[in-house]
Amino acid sequence: MENWRNFWPELKALLGEPARYFTDPTERLFVLYLASALLCALVVYAIARLRSPQSVPASLIGYLFPREVYLHPSAKADYAFFIVDRILSFLFIPYFVLVVPMVGAPLYHLLVVVFGEATPILPPGVATNLLLTLISVLAVDFALWWIHYLHHRIPVLWEFHKVHHSAEVMTPITAYRMHPVEIILNLNLTGFVSAVTFAIFRYITADTGVTYTVVGIDVITFAFLLFAFNLRHSHIPMAYPRALSHLFVSPWMHQVHHSLEARHLDKNMGFIFAIWDWMFGTLYVPVRGETFALGLDSGEAPKFHSVRAMYLRPFRNILDRLDPAKSTPRSS
Ligand SMILES: [Zn+2]
Ligand SMILES: [Zn+2]
Repeated sequence: MENWRNFWPELKALLGEPARYFTDPTERLFVLYLASALLCALVVYAIARLRSPQSVPASLIGYLFPREVYLHPSAKADYAFFIVDRILSFLFIPYFVLVVPMVGAPLYHLLVVVFGEATPILPPGVATNLLLTLISVLAVDFALWWIHYLHHRIPVLWEFHKVHHSAEVMTPITAYRMHPVEIILNLNLTGFVSAVTFAIFRYITADTGVTYTVVGIDVITFAFLLFAFNLRHSHIPMAYPRALSHLFVSPWMHQVHHSLEARHLDKNMGFIFAIWDWMFGTLYVPVRGETFALGLDSGEAPKFHSVRAMYLRPFRNILDRLDPAKSTPRSS
């Protein structure tokens, strides 16, 4: 009886789950991050108008929200997938993210058993906390780069990652165009890396260190989300100065990652930091005026523009790969 009393409130929360993404500061679509992205887009527009008035539409609304982007079949599929997938993720993803609670505490106790009681190696204070914050973000960011790299390199993983790359136009919602298999792998890996990092931090600071957070996320990721994160999945070519582009992935550099041009394939796989791409030779800093189309170089992208295809097509493609008669090689 008690359970049934909770049924309607729980159903309401479940159906309202997609809307939560716009009101929760820990989510990428939080209205503040969208508003700051809009502000950055206005700056990009103003600069483009000053440099070359003919190259951008006179209408500001037409520039910011072009119909050919926001009403494209690819974008419409993103909207539908976002609603369905956020509800299904809420229901099922927790069952597949098992690593975090299983790793942190046992690893800390293992360190105590092997090396003895924790004594602070780093002195407590702001410098230590800043260092811990930076290292924890770097560790997770490198893990994300690495798993992203594997999704491009391993054919079976690429079939799942193709869902994200099949977007032919991009809006901030495209960030959520990801197959659940990829999401589960990412969450488990980043959860594992976070848990290991924090267990080591606990040990070397004897539990005195903290990482700095704001609204429930670390300050570095917060700043990253606030600084135009949502333009990376958009048509607004916001670039950073060339030197800075070797340290941080600009929105335009992620748009290049979605390009189907041969020179752009498998480039810019970083999330926050570009240093991993720089280190491993996959960095591509576009030059001003460079243009490119988005999607899959195989021409397969339109076949993904439905909720059903985004979930099921990767499995069909993997089965096809097993059949040499149907298999098509991937260039990226
Ligand atoms: Zn990718
Ligand atoms: Zn993307």
